[in-house]
Amino acid sequence: MIGALITLRGVVQGVGFRPFVHRLARENDLAGSVRNFSGGVVIEVEGSRDRVEEFYRRVSEDAPPMANVVTKRIQSQPPRGLETFSVRESALVDEEFVLVPPDICLCRRCQEELLDPRDRRHRYPFINCTDCGPRFTIISDMPYDRPMTTMRAFNMCDQCQREYEDIEDRRYHAQPNACPICGPHLWFRDQKGYQARGEKALQEAIERLRRGQIVAVKGIGGFHFCCDATNDQAVARLRRRKNRPTKPLAIMSLDLNRVRSYCRLSPAEEQLLSTPMRPIVILERRADSPIAAQVAPGSNTLGVMLPYAPVHVLLLEGDPVAIVATSANLSDQPLVRSNQEAREQLSQIADAYLFHNREIHTSCDDSIFRFIAGQPMPIRRARGYAPSPIRLPFESPPILACGGELKSTFCLTREDNAFLSQHIGDLKNAETYQFYLNMIQRFQHLFRVQPMIVAHDLHPQYLSTRFARELSEGGQKELKRVAVQHHHAHVGACMAENGVVEPVIGVVFDGLGYGADGHIWGAEFMVADYKAFHRMGQLRYVPLPGGDVANREPWRMALSHLYSLCGPELGTWERSLFSHLNAQHLEGVLQMLVRGYNAPLVSSMGRLFDAVSSLLGLCQHNTYEGEAAVNLQVTAENISDPLPGYSWSISRKGDYITVDPNPLFSELLQDLRRHMTIPEIARRFHQSVAELVGLGCRHIRAVSNLSRVALSGGVFQNKLLTELTVDLLRRDGFEPLLHQKVPPNDGGIALGQAAVAGYQNRKP
Ligand code: ZN
Ligand code: ZN
Ligand code: FE
Repeated sequence: MIGALITLRGVVQGVGFRPFVHRLARENDLAGSVRNFSGGVVIEVEGSRDRVEEFYRRVSEDAPPMANVVTKRIQSQPPRGLETFSVRESALVDEEFVLVPPDICLCRRCQEELLDPRDRRHRYPFINCTDCGPRFTIISDMPYDRPMTTMRAFNMCDQCQREYEDIEDRRYHAQPNACPICGPHLWFRDQKGYQARGEKALQEAIERLRRGQIVAVKGIGGFHFCCDATNDQAVARLRRRKNRPTKPLAIMSLDLNRVRSYCRLSPAEEQLLSTPMRPIVILERRADSPIAAQVAPGSNTLGVMLPYAPVHVLLLEGDPVAIVATSANLSDQPLVRSNQEAREQLSQIADAYLFHNREIHTSCDDSIFRFIAGQPMPIRRARGYAPSPIRLPFESPPILACGGELKSTFCLTREDNAFLSQHIGDLKNAETYQFYLNMIQRFQHLFRVQPMIVAHDLHPQYLSTRFARELSEGGQKELKRVAVQHHHAHVGACMAENGVVEPVIGVVFDGLGYGADGHIWGAEFMVADYKAFHRMGQLRYVPLPGGDVANREPWRMALSHLYSLCGPELGTWERSLFSHLNAQHLEGVLQMLVRGYNAPLVSSMGRLFDAVSSLLGLCQHNTYEGEAAVNLQVTAENISDPLPGYSWSISRKGDYITVDPNPLFSELLQDLRRHMTIPEIARRFHQSVAELVGLGCRHIRAVSNLSRVALSGGVFQNKLLTELTVDLLRRDGFEPLLHQKVPPNDGGIALGQAAVAGYQNRKP
């Protein structure tokens, strides 16, 4: 007979952990107790040595699906002669913290009950249990208890209360537990004032979708605009009303079989689609797909997710192959969260609403992934993943990292946990900025973090930078401020999520980031660790005529490169590449280049993709960020056989290389004149960029002896480019590191800022 005290930390509350421990203890004939404390769970056990060891092993290995045991510790203590195993009430210590569980999709058992006519929750859209349901989006504070969630508005009926109190029940301490008698309900309302409730509301919504209408459906972290994804007119109407001409829309199908009818799926993709986090996965579309072309015009992929809330299952359960389910917000605004906001903001877009009365405390977008080089890469990290921490490879002091601006997130650290916020969006929008400020407050409170350091981008005009300044110069003077260069933060994020501490070669290709020399960077070769970075190479600076406008008008970069190649006297043929403009406009922008006004210098791979996309006639105006580059990639993917790349001209100054793309443009224009097909030229361009990465890395390896390469920046969301690059690097003996936990785009840089500032100020 021995006694032991076991402490577990991680996601161990609100996930059915104590009942699981209770069962496991009884299976092993152990006496003792389990209780939550605000840092995790403490278990006291007594019994035979074998059984205690068995218990200790299985307590983490067989933990419930939503649980995530991060650390466990066992100490022996003299047995006290206990006879039973009991579940005890929680103790709360104020500075301690627990991990807040993310929102998890409807579990298999709840789905069976949902569809079982004999079950008392048959077709009840708010069914959940300790293994599933909303968490992060309904929690207002910790410890996780019903009064701390938006379920506090509902009193459990006797039957629900009995389930809640019965340790043998799957709904023991399931805080959102509810049933049709006592819980939230659905209602339908159209623009003409027709209303229906409960099952009738569902049937009405299904019927409206079938008739091609647009229904705003309230789900877990916000609303979706839904319509029949096989109905071209319905999707076209949604695009018109949402003023979103081409950006792909996400769709949702009931099960994998339906997804297989319109997409090609690998086993790994099936698995990712089916995980309890239920992200959108970008999949290869089948040629014979019945999905409306308007869902993703001109694209060879579709963004697909499986249902995660019970209401989705009920909407999809009949005939539909798929419905569009795109975030319901006005462009650049935060997600709509309340019924009232929905009625105020979405009335020009939705024909009808499917509302419910369980409040969303925190809005959270759907997450998006794509498999690249055989690994899942996040494009947007939100529902299902936030606010689970990313583990840092060192202990950090408490830090607030403010992130970037366009695809903003922020990050808080505590010990070796980095709490990266869900995707927040473009801070230049006033409402989004307010949402960002609110979320920072909420995260600080939920995770009990009082930052000692505030980290931010170098860009003086980013609203996140200004916020960091205000914090440290305003009320909180004891706050230390650490500025982290944009591309250093990208590399830091890639290192941190891969658990790397030693220096790496960093290759960062993105749109624009503020450089340490005051110019705009975005095609960086560097040697970096968390302590410092050394820029080892770049694309030659070229003017960005019109400044910010050029980010939306790719033809401006095309003109800039032509000017750099041919000078101001463009030939008739070169001018014909700009026939989409009137001659005066073209002349005006050419003059900016000649005189060098309103044309800041940039070294950006994103802008190079823009230039090529424009020259090939694929995109002259972006209707969403990165559109020109996406079109170029999709076009290149029509060619499956390798083609040779174009040439770069490299100049060296000591250990520093500058890459001039003039030879590339000269060869590319020749191909264009000779009427080589556009897909072939696009493919040759991708090959060139992959070869450039290889070239830069070999140069750096020769001077630094490093062979690990962190690939980061939004350009590496390009599947073709990244796969060509990874392949080429591996064949050359390099070890490429890709993003798998945070996006390579600016949604990841808050993590990098935190890692850099955290490591520089780490506890010895
Ligand atoms: Zn469940
Ligand atoms: Zn009930
Ligand atoms: Fe960036």
